[in-house]
Amino acid sequence: MEQVQSLRHEVEQLKSLEGKYRNIFLNAVEGIFQSTPSGRFLVANPALARILGYASPEELIAERTDIEKQHYVEPQRRREFQQSLDENSIIREFEYQVYRKDGTRIWVSETCRAVRDASGAVLYYEGTIQDITHRRSTEEALQEANEQLASWVNELQQRTREMTLLSEMGDLLQACLTLPEAYVAIGQIARQLFAPESGTLSVTKTAQNLVEVVAAWGPALGGEPVFTHEGCWALRRGRVHHIEDSSDGLLCKHLYKPPPAAYICVPMMAQGEALGILHLGYQEVGRLTESKQRFAVAVAEHVALALSNLKLHETLRSQSIRDPLTGLFNRRFMEESLVREVLRAARNQGPLGVIMIDLDGFKSFNDTFGHDAGDTLLREFGFLLRNTIRAEDIACRYGGEEFTLILPEATLEATLERAEQIREEIKRLKVLHRDQDLGQVTVSLGVAVFPNHGTTGEALLRAADTALYRAKIDGRDRVAVKT
Ligand code: GH3
Ligand code: MG
Ligand code: MG
Repeated sequence: MEQVQSLRHEVEQLKSLEGKYRNIFLNAVEGIFQSTPSGRFLVANPALARILGYASPEELIAERTDIEKQHYVEPQRRREFQQSLDENSIIREFEYQVYRKDGTRIWVSETCRAVRDASGAVLYYEGTIQDITHRRSTEEALQEANEQLASWVNELQQRTREMTLLSEMGDLLQACLTLPEAYVAIGQIARQLFAPESGTLSVTKTAQNLVEVVAAWGPALGGEPVFTHEGCWALRRGRVHHIEDSSDGLLCKHLYKPPPAAYICVPMMAQGEALGILHLGYQEVGRLTESKQRFAVAVAEHVALALSNLKLHETLRSQSIRDPLTGLFNRRFMEESLVREVLRAARNQGPLGVIMIDLDGFKSFNDTFGHDAGDTLLREFGFLLRNTIRAEDIACRYGGEEFTLILPEATLEATLERAEQIREEIKRLKVLHRDQDLGQVTVSLGVAVFPNHGTTGEALLRAADTALYRAKIDGRDRVAVKT
């Protein structure tokens, strides 16, 4: 009797325990399951049915049968899960995506264990499944935000670096006095600005339809050092020409061979005039990003401004030292140069020759053929002078139809010889004005040398002028030296 009572008591206890576990099973927030080795659910709780979008565990068990067809977003990942489970018997918090009954996707985290018989064969799996979609999407959003932030910071750093380099370039170009100096500076800065890519700076040559490469950087490109305006689409159209993939696009003719994978030509404009182009070549498709294009345009603008300033400066300078009719130096420049050359000759204890030249009978020439014809003759004579002298000699128009030559290091003999040569050559000069032959022209020349005839520029000029006067008196078309 007592035995029966204690048995009944045990049964009561077991029932109450089962009831507790059943409640946990039924009310759990996590999905709880048992499944066959092939993945078919044997047992599922209401939470699992809810997570996967079914009305009840019964519906879930009845409908979600075929494991291979089952609704995994990445079946390969599920297979990895399965394999690892069979090898290790337990897997914790494995995350994957699954389709719900209505086809929407969710992220789940599964913890699962394989239950085996004595021989080690899998009897069934049991485990829990949690819906972690919310956490995953928060994480993803966070990661995206992080990546975006990192890319902004990166871009900002890049921009700052570019701005610094640009402003350095501006400073450096401001300090350049001549165009060739600026070309060298631009080449060096561009090497830093655009490394590791190659590029060139080309400038248009005035009055010709040509464009000349004046600076190059990066790995050698080859290609033509001079090309025509039409050879570049950017110059032709007056706007940026960029090719993101040169296997497919309208390529400029000035490109080297093989052409770069991608490239950009930016015209350098100033006051509506194309001064040249900035060309950048990229070895790989995809490297010519939008921000790089923007940067290239900014650099080209800076360079254009600097070049146009220098050009203006050179024009003004040349206007202030050159005679516009003949292109020879003017009297002021000659006098300054003469002072310098005399000092140099004195220091070197070497000679220095000066020749004063005056056209013979120019007044009557003007009277006969007109002032315009006179101008033509002066221009032609200027041309002749420039072509007879050496690079270190200085030829200038002293005024009217009088010219001066300064010949550094020339002895009396050499200066006389040069004077004779000019006297001979002008006689061979054939000047046409409006198809009219202006006939033969002669000149008279006066020669003086340092230190024989003077030890200052002024004294030398006076001596040469006296000699010239002598040549005129003696009958013109001759060379005279101060005695
Ligand atoms: P010579 O020197 O042989 O004694 O005779 P000349 O006729 O050349 O005499 P002079 O040197 O006195 O005359 C200079 C003339 O040159 C005066 C002027 O008519 C002319 N002349 C001066 N400057 C210019 C110029 O820029 N253009 C033209 N066409 N003529 C000029
Ligand atoms: Mg004269
Ligand atoms: Mg004269």
